[in-house]
Amino acid sequence: MKNFYSNIIKPNPKNLNKIIKILKKDGIISLPTETVYGLAGNAYSKISIRKIFNVKKRSKKNPLIVHYYNLKDAKKDVVLDKRFHKIFNKFGPGPLTFILKKKQSSRINPIACANLKTVGVRFPKNKIIRKILKDLSFPLAMPSANKSSSISPVKATDVAEEFGNKIKIVDGGVSKIGIESTVLNLDGKISILRPGIITSTQLEKILKIKINLKYNQKIIKSPGSLRKHYSPGIPIYLNKKKCPKEFAFITFGFKYPVTRNSFNLSRKSNLNEAAKNLYKFFRLIKNKGYKKIYVVKIPNKGIGFAINDRLKRAAKK
Ligand code: AMP
Ligand code: MG
Repeated sequence: MKNFYSNIIKPNPKNLNKIIKILKKDGIISLPTETVYGLAGNAYSKISIRKIFNVKKRSKKNPLIVHYYNLKDAKKDVVLDKRFHKIFNKFGPGPLTFILKKKQSSRINPIACANLKTVGVRFPKNKIIRKILKDLSFPLAMPSANKSSSISPVKATDVAEEFGNKIKIVDGGVSKIGIESTVLNLDGKISILRPGIITSTQLEKILKIKINLKYNQKIIKSPGSLRKHYSPGIPIYLNKKKCPKEFAFITFGFKYPVTRNSFNLSRKSNLNEAAKNLYKFFRLIKNKGYKKIYVVKIPNKGIGFAINDRLKRAAKK
């Protein structure tokens, strides 16, 4: 595997200026965030949005998350209600996407929102992307920087594996969280469309209401998300206690022996660490040439719920 790519650039001041120029000219570029690496373009520009969908080979029915520097910028495009402010005060900026009502006056390109009346809005915490957003007069539409249905990238070389030298990639090191943001629907009845590191229990505490985990129904409702997702492209078998030597064995906790084919998500049974290792291991296992993956049962509490969501979708045939 190559480990040098000339299109991976450091976020120094000179390069940051170049990046801003590329984005202002409707170019697209891969940027680091605290969740996974994204493929960014001007959310107001039809040209940029088209480029993102084309490079990813993404279905036009699957909307993009729009990233803002602050509330003042977001207010131009979406309605920020009471519930939003309550949650933002506690968790913003961070790994949480809000589905909000789009304003009539919004300049977001309709294709970015799959022609919906809502927008997926996120305020990333990563310092590099915040520096870039601060200098732009438009928000960034940014899905994960991988080909549609493949594994999300958690470091610059992962993105290069997906797209070669087609696009520039800003090197921000390894993503802190390593799985995608929690997606919270605030349009009408509140629900979680994609579980993440911020859990329903944490959100319920703030809003003092019960939140439905509607994300399974949503998968059926929205055709774009029915497909196999987050997948390393080889069969995955869940809830396994043992694994043949020739297959990769993803384990969790101290009780599993260290073998050549085992990949322990967290020896200490720490679910944050497990989330951070999940896509890293998927990619590693794929690159090592394994033909199948067995996975032990992962506790379905807290962040474990998000890990199991990704595992189930990756295992979908
Ligand atoms: P990704 O492509 O990994 O960035 O994931 C984006 C996620 O946000 C997908 O699950 C989308 O379906 C979801 N999303 C973005 N915008 C909206 C929206 N307006 N309504 C519902 N879901 C959205
Ligand atoms: Mg994605």
